[in-house]
Amino acid sequence: MLKIENLAVSYGAIRALHEVSLTVEQGSIVTLIGSNGAGKSTTLRTVSGLLRPDSGTITWNGERIDGLAPHKGVARGLCQVPEGRMVFANLTVRENLAMGAYLQHDHAAVRRERDYVFSVFPRLAEREKQQAGTLSGGEQQMLAIGRALMGQPKFLMLDEPSLGIAPLLVKSIFAQIVEINRSRGITMLLVEQNANLALEIATHGYVLETGRIILHDRSAALRADPKVRSAYLGG
Ligand code: ATP
Repeated sequence: MLKIENLAVSYGAIRALHEVSLTVEQGSIVTLIGSNGAGKSTTLRTVSGLLRPDSGTITWNGERIDGLAPHKGVARGLCQVPEGRMVFANLTVRENLAMGAYLQHDHAAVRRERDYVFSVFPRLAEREKQQAGTLSGGEQQMLAIGRALMGQPKFLMLDEPSLGIAPLLVKSIFAQIVEINRSRGITMLLVEQNANLALEIATHGYVLETGRIILHDRSAALRADPKVRSAYLGG
């Protein structure tokens, strides 16, 4: 389980997060929604160890991880799929997946994970030898998630997986995110501007506004909340 308590994070003199607290129960999908600049990515980057908090704590299964170097988080099973996908454009699909397994030296395990990724995203199997830079946006998102899975994460942070992707492909990617959560029991924190989609697959949601959590509840309750509906769900 991941627990964030009273987290404050700044960029220089500007505070981006104020007293943010949230909990992600083992095996669940929790979403953090909010508009542009609310602080969603900042939250993920702090959990990943890319940013150091001014104050507050982050614990993963009871262990303090705030301020821990990113590779130490990765070794504990924490993995972030960054916004904008960030695949290695000049490497093939297969090579990108191999990069995700750099800590794994057991070749049989690497093969097993790759087979799992290909079973979840058959499009990647069909494009195994294709350069990642020539994939569509949706396919690159699949590859970014697949690459994260190669590291056998226990906690996956997804930063705007729907961004700039054709609606039909977004539906399929979100269905696969649920499938990965169910079949692998991977705990997930999903950051999304598309609150409709995110609240469909998450059990709980947190609403972030200018660096503060203003609401949190079960997804069904948030979807029924008039304030959430008018501000984030299109009325
Ligand atoms: P988006 O969906 O647009 O990425 P977000 O909710 O993820 O939005 P953040 O990227 O976390 O928001 O940004 C939160 C605030 O921190 C914003 O006001 C942003 O301008 C600021 N910020 C983010 N990165 C930096 C940085 N490297 N230097 C200074 N300020 C930053």
